[in-house]
This record gives sequence, C-alpha cells and structure tokens, in this order.
Amino acid sequence: MSFDAIVVGARVAGSPTAMLLARAGHRVLLLDRATFPSDVISTHLIHVPGMAYLRRWGLHDAVASAGAPPHERFTMDFGPFAISAPPPAVDGAAHPYCVRRTVLDSILLDAARSAGVTVREGVTVTELVVEDGRVVGVRGDGFEEYARIVIGADGLRSTVAAAVGATRYTETPALTACYYAYYRGVEPREGAEIYQLGDRAVVLFPTNDDETCVFVACPIAQFHEFRTDVEANYAEALSRVPPVATRIAAATRSGRMHATADVPNFFRQSAGPGWALVGDAGYHKDPVMAAGITDAFVCASLLADAVHSGLSAGGDLDAAVAAYVEERDRRFLPALQLTCQLASMEPPTPEMAALFATIAASPAESTRFFGVLQGSTPIPEYFAPDNLGRIMSGAQG
Ligand SMILES: Cc1cc2nc3c(=O)[nH]c(=O)nc-3n(C[C@H](O)[C@H](O)[C@H](O)COP(=O)(O)OP(=O)(O)OC[C@H]3O[C@@H](n4cnc5c(N)ncnc54)[C@H](O)[C@@H]3O)c2cc1C
Repeated sequence: MSFDAIVVGARVAGSPTAMLLARAGHRVLLLDRATFPSDVISTHLIHVPGMAYLRRWGLHDAVASAGAPPHERFTMDFGPFAISAPPPAVDGAAHPYCVRRTVLDSILLDAARSAGVTVREGVTVTELVVEDGRVVGVRGDGFEEYARIVIGADGLRSTVAAAVGATRYTETPALTACYYAYYRGVEPREGAEIYQLGDRAVVLFPTNDDETCVFVACPIAQFHEFRTDVEANYAEALSRVPPVATRIAAATRSGRMHATADVPNFFRQSAGPGWALVGDAGYHKDPVMAAGITDAFVCASLLADAVHSGLSAGGDLDAAVAAYVEERDRRFLPALQLTCQLASMEPPTPEMAALFATIAASPAESTRFFGVLQGSTPIPEYFAPDNLGRIMSGAQG
C-alpha cells in the first residue's frame, strides 16, 4: 500500500480528516477534482463549536483573521418578537464567523498540506479498486492509488458512496428551496440576522470584503412558482422585512444569484470493509441550522480518531470505523429531526410560540437557546420537560 488513507474530497470534511490523520503519523493522499481556491453552493456560517475545533487544530486565528467580521450576536426575528443575544462561548472560542468558502477551504487544504498530506487537485476519482470484497484503492483518468482505507468526503453526490452502494436512512426529501446573493455595503448590525416570517426565511450573514450574504428560503412546494421569477420573488421576500429591504436597496449586488433545491435530509451508510464516509457524503441536511461545516469538523475529528486507532498496532480498522458511525448517528439524530422540523416552515405551535416569547424576554435565556442552535447544548437536554418548565417559570439555569 502506498498510503494508509486516501481521502476523496478536500473541503470542510476531507481536509481536516486528512490533516488529523497526517498529524497522527499516517501517510495520507487527498484528492479533489476542484482546484483551489474554489467556491461551492453554500452560505458559510461557522458556529462557535466549529471555531472551537479550529482552535484545537491551531487554525482559529487564520480563519478569524481571514477578512470576515466576528458575529457578536445572533438575532432570530419571528415578527412579533425577536431572540437576540451573543451565542455561548465554547472552549475558548467566542464568536461565529462567516468566511467565504473560497477562503476557508483553502486554509483547511493548506493545513492538510502542511501536516504532510500528499495533495492532488484537479483529479477526479471515477471508481474504487476492490479486492476480495474490500476497498483497497481508487482509480481515475490515468491514475490508480492504494491505501488501507478510502474515505469519501466527496459531498452529497458522493462517488465513493455510489461505488460501494451505500444506502440512505432516516431520510426526508428536500423541504426548502434556497437562494442567496452577495451585497456590498449593507449597513451592518452585530452579526447574523435570521427572519422567520411565515413561508419565507430571510437571513443576513456579514462576510468577507464588506459583503453580506443575503439568503432567502421558501417551502419546496413553492419551488416551481418561485423560480418563474426568482428576482421578483426574492425581492418580495426581502420586502417582508422593510428595514432589511431598505438596507439592501442602499447596497450594491455583487455577482449572480445562487440557488439550490437539492437539500435532502438523511444519514447514509458510512462504513464498510476498507471505506468510510464523512461530511455531507454521510450525513446531509437542509441548511436551516447552518450546521454542515461545524458538523463536518465534528465528524472529521471522530473519524480521524477511529481510523488512527484502527490503523494502530492491534487495532481493528473496520470495527473502529463502524463505531464512528454509531457515535455520529447518536449525536446527530436529534439535530436531523430538529432540522426537518424547522425546515418544514410550519408556523410554531402556540406552546412553541409561548416558549420563544419567554426566551426572547431574557438575555441569559436567549444565549442558552443559541447554544442549542449552534450545537453546544444537547437538544434532548434543552427540550426536556424540566428545562422547559424552568424556562417558562422564569427560573435561572
Ligand atoms: C444553500 C446552502 C447553504 C449552506 N449554508 C451553510 C452555512 O451557513 N453553514 C454551514 O455550516 N453549512 C452550510 N451548508 C452546508 C455545507 O455547505 C455543507 O455541509 C458542506 O459544504 C459539506 O462539506 P463536505 O466537505 O462534506 O462536502 P463538499 O463541500 O460538497 O465538498 C466535496 C468535495 O468533493 C469533491 N469531489 C466530489 N466528487 C469527487 C470525485 N469523484 N473525485 C474527486 N473529488 C470529488 C468536490 O469537488 C468537492 O470539493 C449550506 C448548504 C447549502 C446547500
């Protein structure tokens, strides 16, 4: 074997996985069909726990100083009331950042390269090499490479997943359609603004180069109607928040509209003999919680630990990787369920509306609530009857 691990896909899941394995002393090949810097269809909020992972990896300051402002607070506006507060700090990381993927993904790829990973850009993997039922390598146009494990970090339409026939489970088809564009010179607030207004979500993320990413989502049932006149429907969504519409009108659009309705929600079988999946390839969901990057960091860390122990003397690689998938699903099932609930854009029940209004009235409670959205407070713990009772009674946590 020329390599211990081959990682296919060099973005927020693949580069950290490769970097961590190389730092642990393994020989790693990282392949991507893109050449970097490269963009991808995605807004780019990194939640505080994601920044905490970057801090652990020694990359926090590189990302924090990459030209996007720190988000001092989140604001979630439901019309009649708004929850607005700083999100809670995690392990020395205090702020979320919204760094353009052209910038973030290059920082991660450079970190992998600096850790000793062999990187090849502009290279497409077309098939896996399988011997005696075990994946032992990858093939592409004019190349073939071998390793003890092949890791698919190759996104929603994963070639690795297709080649091994990995099936989806806990699946809910796409619930929203997403549109976003960048505007220069939008009068700033203190961070991300999320407006949940009936059947539209409007989100503002300040990002690099004095630009703001302005995102609009509608229910998937309205996708065809929306796309008949995207610009008019996008503007109509913004007009539902008049102060936002005024700020956008005074700014300058830079570049085209980005759109996707390809946002299904699922786990995918992510481990088998000689292979594993990480990031969107193994766990995909609607962007409503803006969690894909942070979750990719969590899963990269879990998978790298598992592969390292499996590759170590006396280790059982397949068992270690299977345990990674179990842990991933245990951690993220509640988030997948909450994502689908939020992405359904159903109006909140009277109980939920009362809960949100109570939270909105308390700065401390608002910060705790954002702990759930950013993934640092376990969802079952937060929505446990005792905790909901405490919130509604106004008691301190
Ligand atoms: C509209 C939208 C908004 C979003 N907003 C946010 C947000 O604000 N915050 C957040 O955290 N998440 C957000 N997400 C989710 C986030 O974009 C994804 O979770 C994240 O990009 C997944 O990263 P990944 O590394 O797993 O895969 P990807 O980013 O999809 O990268 C996969 C890589 O694999 C490469 N590849 C694929 N096939 C091959 C092959 N055969 N050979 C070689 N290379 C290959 C591709 O070139 C690509 O570079 C959003 C998603 C969408 C759709």
